[in-house]
Amino acid sequence: MRKSYIVIHNSGAMNEPQFESINRYHMRRGFPVSSLGYYGGYHLLIDTDEKVKRYREDRELGAHARQRMMNFRSIGVCVAGDFTRQKPKEWQIQLLREVIVKLQIQHGIPLKNVLLHKNISATACPGIDWREHLFNRAIEIQKTDGGERIKENVLRRLKRRLKHFI
Ligand SMILES: [Zn+2]
Repeated sequence: MRKSYIVIHNSGAMNEPQFESINRYHMRRGFPVSSLGYYGGYHLLIDTDEKVKRYREDRELGAHARQRMMNFRSIGVCVAGDFTRQKPKEWQIQLLREVIVKLQIQHGIPLKNVLLHKNISATACPGIDWREHLFNRAIEIQKTDGGERIKENVLRRLKRRLKHFI
């Protein structure tokens, strides 16, 4: 399934870490199991232990945004936390930024298709406009991305930093 959007979420919970509790919650809600054996409806979770954890392969159906067929068309990325009540930490902003840029490059997803959950649904999720923090860097990469060599360099650098989930 080709993915042309990214939807950013927050978990709305404050416990830590959250990978297992979200998985159990989404199992109880009857979300479909992924090829990796998880029920978490997001593809990726930026957990409170500063690790990026995967519930679903990018190509798989998600269970995080029903509107506009987004479960079919998008990759769901969740930041663990409730950002209607807490401020994001610097590492959360940085890690989300790197994850988004990596997904944009890997799947050829343009900036305008990087959405907040509340852009497509009546929800407070993901709490704040993460794009304010994300877009400067993403735009910079798009502007300088004149050729494959630059693209490869960016990917190589990201792979080093994100080796725990690639
Ligand atoms: Zn959401």
